[in-house]
Amino acid sequence: MSEELNPFKIAQQQLDNVAKLLDLKKGVHEYLRHTQRELTVNFPVKMDNGDIKIFTGYRIQYNNVRGPCKGGIRYHPDVTLDEVRALAAWMTWKSAVVGIPYGGAKGGVVCNPKEMSQNELERLTRRFTSEISIIIGPEKDIPAPDVYTNAQTMAWIMDTYSMIKGYSVPGVVTGKPISIGGSLGRNEATARGCMFVIREALKHLDYKVIPPEVWRKECEDDGSSICDGDEGTGYRIDGAKVAIQGFGNAGSIAAKLLSGKGAKVIAVSDTRGGILNKDGLDIEKVIEHKAKTGSVIGFEGTELLGHKQVLEVECDVLVPAALENQITNDNVDNVKAKIVAEAANGPTTPEADQILSDKKIMVLPDILANAGGVTVSYFEWVQGLQSFFWSERDVNVRLKEIMVKAFENVLEMSKRHGVDNRTGAYIVAVKRVADAIMHRGIFP
Ligand code: GLU
Repeated sequence: MSEELNPFKIAQQQLDNVAKLLDLKKGVHEYLRHTQRELTVNFPVKMDNGDIKIFTGYRIQYNNVRGPCKGGIRYHPDVTLDEVRALAAWMTWKSAVVGIPYGGAKGGVVCNPKEMSQNELERLTRRFTSEISIIIGPEKDIPAPDVYTNAQTMAWIMDTYSMIKGYSVPGVVTGKPISIGGSLGRNEATARGCMFVIREALKHLDYKVIPPEVWRKECEDDGSSICDGDEGTGYRIDGAKVAIQGFGNAGSIAAKLLSGKGAKVIAVSDTRGGILNKDGLDIEKVIEHKAKTGSVIGFEGTELLGHKQVLEVECDVLVPAALENQITNDNVDNVKAKIVAEAANGPTTPEADQILSDKKIMVLPDILANAGGVTVSYFEWVQGLQSFFWSERDVNVRLKEIMVKAFENVLEMSKRHGVDNRTGAYIVAVKRVADAIMHRGIFP
């Protein structure tokens, strides 16, 4: 039988795995296997050449029992309804695993943003917003950036929604530009959260980390202390070898932050291919190279790899930071990392997951490893509701606290039940959602 690659079937399978362990009531289990609300919209957009094209988009609300639905919107030619359903389910578990008061949602539009102008993207975003405006809102469902959407996309959504309402509603989205109520640190948050849990995992695996006292002394000595909220408390991970698949918001910033903590990023990739330099890449220069040429490939002094070959590089930490179903039955045997930190959503299939677990490779599952983004989205929403904005340092310190605690909770749960970290994370998350259901009861 061929491997299951339908993301929603996978998401349901992951839930089923823990339903037994948690002894979930049959009805509650069944409830959690389904989306709550699904909106499909087909809408016209006027293209630059005057033609009218019809696009399809989705907004799926998975569950709102712990708070308003929350989750990004992605623009990609391969978006499907089942993919968005899975992503919405994962958002539900993600918010629960880090303990922020949100349910889960996700949106997607089937389009190829690489082939569209800024004006076309603006018109698409505004029309899509008007179509989904009937179900989003600061107390109901709050979109954010995801694959191929960004702060500008959020600004258009916020503006369109505000025009419909007749007054400014910054709280309808997170990941906004700072000028309209965005949070400092939000742009880096997914990567920063991922860095924090990678560091905890390395420490846990007895990697020789450099303690804060030594590091702080070094910073003071050469005057290079950085105010990211980590100085004086965080560990350095000097020499840890890292490979990263995907060089978008999560991948490129993770590369930068990890090398900032002393790691040696030896391989990175984007859709056009990968690059490898066993002595470590100068990430700032790779970012410049990509900005200039459109890709990481062709960067001086590197060996060319395929986009998926990056997953097979010998390293301490592998960070899949692209799309779903990248580590599968076909290539899992070639994964040589000690830690797989899932900055992407759903990069590992359940069959591959089992093999990683058998090989004693430590997986930091997506719902934990990439939860930094939604955590700082929560901070942004809270700051906006209070009209009181925090320093970047405060944002980072609070993010670290939440990520480290979530890592410890997951690890503790995995140990207690003798299961892998994904199962441990699902136990923590699903239990929190199920408890909320039990307390609220079923209406009417
Ligand atoms: N798209 C991000 C994710 O998958 C962020 C979601 C959010 O901030 O709401 O976690």
